[in-house]
Amino acid sequence: MRALVTGGAGFLGSHLCERLLNDGHEVICLDNYFSGKRANVASLLDNRNFELVRHDTVNPILLEVDRIFHLACPASPVHYQYNPVKTIKTSVMGTINMLGLAKRVRARILLTSTSEVYGDPEQHPQTEGYWGHVNPIGVRACYDEGKRVAETLMMDYHRQNNVDIRIVRIFNTYGPRMAINDGRVVSNFCVAALRGEDLEIYGDGNQTRAFAYVDDIVEALVRMMNQEQHIGPINIGNPDEFTISELAAMAIELSGSSSKISIRPARPDDPVRRKPDISLARKILKWEPRVPLLKGLRQTMDHIRAELGLVRA
Ligand code: NAD
Ligand code: UDP
Repeated sequence: MRALVTGGAGFLGSHLCERLLNDGHEVICLDNYFSGKRANVASLLDNRNFELVRHDTVNPILLEVDRIFHLACPASPVHYQYNPVKTIKTSVMGTINMLGLAKRVRARILLTSTSEVYGDPEQHPQTEGYWGHVNPIGVRACYDEGKRVAETLMMDYHRQNNVDIRIVRIFNTYGPRMAINDGRVVSNFCVAALRGEDLEIYGDGNQTRAFAYVDDIVEALVRMMNQEQHIGPINIGNPDEFTISELAAMAIELSGSSSKISIRPARPDDPVRRKPDISLARKILKWEPRVPLLKGLRQTMDHIRAELGLVRA
């Protein structure tokens, strides 16, 4: 198979490219380097089955491929709120362009949607049948509503043009190669703890998230693309739920540092609780996460320690 991975130089995309190459596929990695970087795929550049293309998905492109993993979109609130108009363009125009490509070359296309389509959820845990509680005019809307429209486009190209689609809704994912400056909670806490700086909690710290390790999510993406039973959407994530305060305590303990917690104002529209119901993924993909948070955090911290040029104490 020849696979296109949009956003392939990002955090998740780079791990996915690596996995697909290991599985024996040809991979075209496409990225505009907004929140990703060449260094994330540097180790793949010598592989004769790997090709790197600098391209922005808001512009059309024609490539002969069998599979499209459509990831291109900034995922961290700091990055997607930096240029919100561009974020929504990326979700809407980028997804139209990739669907147009899928239609033309008859490729199967998988969209990495997000738990953010549920907004600040009134149902807990969140099942795929829940329609969500999103503020359409808030600062997170460029991402949340962008992904909701991307899902709509996927379904409409499927119903109208018979495009072969798959949709997954990914919950918070972490691991090596998260950009150390991308503002997500796991990278922020690891960086601060390793530097002995304060860990900043936005709000009271009682808000929850469920964190999945990147290898688990990549496995689910591959399974979703390869199965014939269900087009989605399917939730993928780790159902173990933690408060942000608990995460901060774990990061401090693992780093062995003397960092303290400092409380900052809550972010606007910050979801209070989030945890996936993964019954459908268990049934259709025969999948569930394997890496517990403590183990995954340790691996992530080792990677960030090396990136910061710190030596293990
Ligand atoms: P990331 O920011 O590391 O990767 C996104 C990649 O897309 C980057 O390399 C970026 O440069 C590229 N990109 C952005 N806009 C582009 C454009 N217009 N044209 C071409 N490339 C573009 O984020 P990630 O965590 O790897 O997320 C990958 C995908 O998974 C995203 O679609 C995101 O919405 C989805 N997702 C991620 C998470 C998570 O917790 N990591 C959760 C839910 C959904
Ligand atoms: N958060 C925090 N300190 C940080 C970064 C994030 O307290 O340095 C909180 C944030 O307010 C949210 C949670 O951690 O409640 C997860 O934030 P992240 O940006 O990682 O992802 P998302 O909000 O998109 O789930």
